Amino acid sequence: MSEIFGYDDDRETASAAKVRALEALLIEKGIIGSDSVDTVLKHFEVNAGPFNGARLVARAWVDPEFKKRLVNDTPAAIAEMNFPAGMTGAEGEHMAAVANGDGVHNLIICTLCSCYPWPILGLPPYWYKDPVFRARGVREPRNVLKEFGVDITDDTEVKVWDSSAQIRWFVVPERPEHTEHLSEEELAALVTPEAMMGVALARVPETRRGA
Ligand code: FE
Repeated sequence: MSEIFGYDDDRETASAAKVRALEALLIEKGIIGSDSVDTVLKHFEVNAGPFNGARLVARAWVDPEFKKRLVNDTPAAIAEMNFPAGMTGAEGEHMAAVANGDGVHNLIICTLCSCYPWPILGLPPYWYKDPVFRARGVREPRNVLKEFGVDITDDTEVKVWDSSAQIRWFVVPERPEHTEHLSEEELAALVTPEAMMGVALARVPETRRGA
């Protein structure tokens, strides 16, 4: 995304170095333990992440009744899934799903800061917090989407959802064509965090087409 946002190419490396220095300092001062950061990282690798959202979307694709429940009562639909214990928690109090399709494309942003449904999508990418993305996402969502490579035709309405401490939104993307032969698990593998933010579509990778 650095080409869209104009970040320095070494942004990730520089941030990682800063984080390592900060972690070392906090451990040295006795503010956190040596395993504190690992515990948090493990939580986002095992319990809370886009793998949960991908399973919800895949279930919605194969089960229209579940899809209705997911949109109408998101917490109840989430409770039906056998998600890892402990996946709920911070930033997961009030999550709500919106579905693409029927002439509507949804985009989620947080105009105020970076509210995001952590249990379902994991931690947001850094550009989600970018003030320019947040402002332009409201003012000119179609242009922003185009820059992400998502062309929305004029006859499709673009709805922008502002996540906040009250509600944290995620998108149920449309099921890609020619995926009738795929299992629910294989479908889940097609669902990216970007698709669940509305800045991408769910797609079958070129290499798997016609499989
Ligand atoms: Fe926020």
